[in-house]
Amino acid sequence: MKKIAIVGAGQSGLQLGLGLLAAGHQVTILSNRTAQDIAQGRVMSSQCMFDSALQIERDLGLDHWSRECPVVEGIGLAVPHPAQRGAKAIDWAARLNAGAQSVDQRLKIPAWMDDFRRQGGELVLKDAGIAELEDCTRSHDLTLVASGKGEISRLFERDAHRSRFDQPQRALALTYVTGMKPREPFSAVSFNLLPGVGEYFVFPALTTTGPCEIMVFEGVPGGPMDCWGDVKTPEQHLERSRWVLDTFVPWEAERCRDIALTDDNGILAGRFAPTVRKPVATLPSGRKVLGMGDVVVLNDPITGQGSNNAAKCADTYLRSILARGNGPFDAAWMQQTFDRYWFGYAQWVTQWTNMLLAPPPPHVLKLLASAGKLAPLASAFANGFDDPRTFFPWFADAGEADHYIANCAAIAAMAAIPA
Ligand SMILES: Cc1cc2nc3c(=O)[nH]c(=O)nc-3n(C[C@H](O)[C@H](O)[C@H](O)COP(=O)(O)OP(=O)(O)OC[C@H]3O[C@@H](n4cnc5c(N)ncnc54)[C@H](O)[C@@H]3O)c2cc1C
Repeated sequence: MKKIAIVGAGQSGLQLGLGLLAAGHQVTILSNRTAQDIAQGRVMSSQCMFDSALQIERDLGLDHWSRECPVVEGIGLAVPHPAQRGAKAIDWAARLNAGAQSVDQRLKIPAWMDDFRRQGGELVLKDAGIAELEDCTRSHDLTLVASGKGEISRLFERDAHRSRFDQPQRALALTYVTGMKPREPFSAVSFNLLPGVGEYFVFPALTTTGPCEIMVFEGVPGGPMDCWGDVKTPEQHLERSRWVLDTFVPWEAERCRDIALTDDNGILAGRFAPTVRKPVATLPSGRKVLGMGDVVVLNDPITGQGSNNAAKCADTYLRSILARGNGPFDAAWMQQTFDRYWFGYAQWVTQWTNMLLAPPPPHVLKLLASAGKLAPLASAFANGFDDPRTFFPWFADAGEADHYIANCAAIAAMAAIPA
């Protein structure tokens, strides 16, 4: 049995902690917020998770909401027509091979904290700093830092080579609502790419008051959707959300005639710079700690991957810890553990996400437009959200994109031949 400490009780910290407890290890988690703080606080994310990340939760018995949480059945994409107001230049949707779900972290995290305690974990209420990390490394075999965007994450050096941006790329906002007209004929993450303005996407979820829809606004900094700075009240936030839709996405505004906020805390506005950090930090004593989740790979939410990444990072780390047996959790093992996550998965998510933050190159525009005519291509786009490695090489290279479009056209033509 190993003694393991984790700073941060979020998606990655709790999921790893619960996995380690199930494997018979002794685990301490330090959290700077109580379950009640989280349950009664602001929303933190839109946390849409796709099938392979949900499967990790199912395998650990952590999927307490899979029956009551609405299922996201597909992905849709719309781009407005540049000249005709209210018309769309691109408009397609495809079904996911397996449903996605979003459970408000205000529900999930307090329940997982409860599970963690009941299964014998030690949950310590503490805003961990260097002194607490030093204590943890003295008394535990391994200390992990899963503190998300918290200040302590800066202990880990920014990896300039892997971080394409040093400034926020979007002004972000969330609005949790009830009363939205459901998307027909199937539920989906409805993505709207608004050139020069940003992106708006919306999908069904489960929040503290029951089913809802989460509206996500990604405004280009300094552009017209970077519009939350003067918003002071929840009512104003809802009004500004409506204004964005009325102005830029009229077909989505149509669905929103009767919306209301789920609760006064169902809103968020902010921004951060996407950042990849080096995974091992050295404390003043010389002892090492290992970063995980958003601490090490923080992407913009434009592709909705952060919780999925956090789940997959925690899963990789769990396997690596269990495989270590009686070996030491030294700096070399820490680096290898992160490398498995980065090279095996996260680098592709980061590359794809960062590409979507920049104006799309011609081959990406061609891919997006072709998906409207080729069902296999639309399906590849939709299902790539569950595993962004599948976007490569065709999303990143003009020649590969042409090959991929041709392959999808051939598959579509075969599917059209009567049996
Ligand atoms: C607007 C927005 C929309 C998003 N939408 C999606 C989406 O649709 N799909 C998706 O997959 N991801 C989404 N994400 C990202 C996702 O929420 C995060 O990537 C994910 O929660 C990261 O998990 P984590 O475990 O690394 O950190 P977190 O879940 O942030 O957990 C970190 C925890 O550590 C605690 N902590 C911080 N500092 C300390 C300290 N010093 N001591 C003790 N505790 C500390 C924090 O309070 C927090 O509870 C979105 C994010 C944003 C901002």
